[in-house]
Amino acid sequence: MSCIFCRIVDGDLPSRTVYESDEALAFLDANPLTAGHTLVVPRDHYETVGDLPPGTAGAVFEAVSAVTPRVEAAVDADATTVAVNNGEAAGQEVPHTHVHIVPRFEGDGNGPIHRLFGSRPALSNEELDAVAAAIRSEH
Ligand code: AMP
Ligand code: ZN
Repeated sequence: MSCIFCRIVDGDLPSRTVYESDEALAFLDANPLTAGHTLVVPRDHYETVGDLPPGTAGAVFEAVSAVTPRVEAAVDADATTVAVNNGEAAGQEVPHTHVHIVPRFEGDGNGPIHRLFGSRPALSNEELDAVAAAIRSEH
């Protein structure tokens, strides 16, 4: 098995595990953006958020909700950025769904996730309606 996060779940690779539940595991990122940077993964291998069965999706977010305040308290953070690089084009490097919990501090200058996007498209009401209708029609 080559997936590094499956190997961590199986105990074949070392990790600094900080939280465990039946379906999810949280461990420190090996190359943290800030001290306390934590990853939450489902124990089973699913590549993207949309691949998660409902129960697993719930278990992952339950773990995120439980561990985030503990991370903040441990490093005395003012806030956290909680985010997923969902798919290769979005920057996902490890193809096993994982939620990043990154401690943030007043004045750290890193900005919101919106900072990733240099500009915003000027969409008309009709275009917004069409996008909403397209999403609703997907099953
Ligand atoms: P992403 O770009 O969203 O796929 O992020 C992958 C993350 O996994 C990066 O932040 C890496 O630092 C982290 N990472 C890679 N290998 C390991 C490992 N063996 N243990 C902990 N974190 C890792
Ligand atoms: Zn995996």
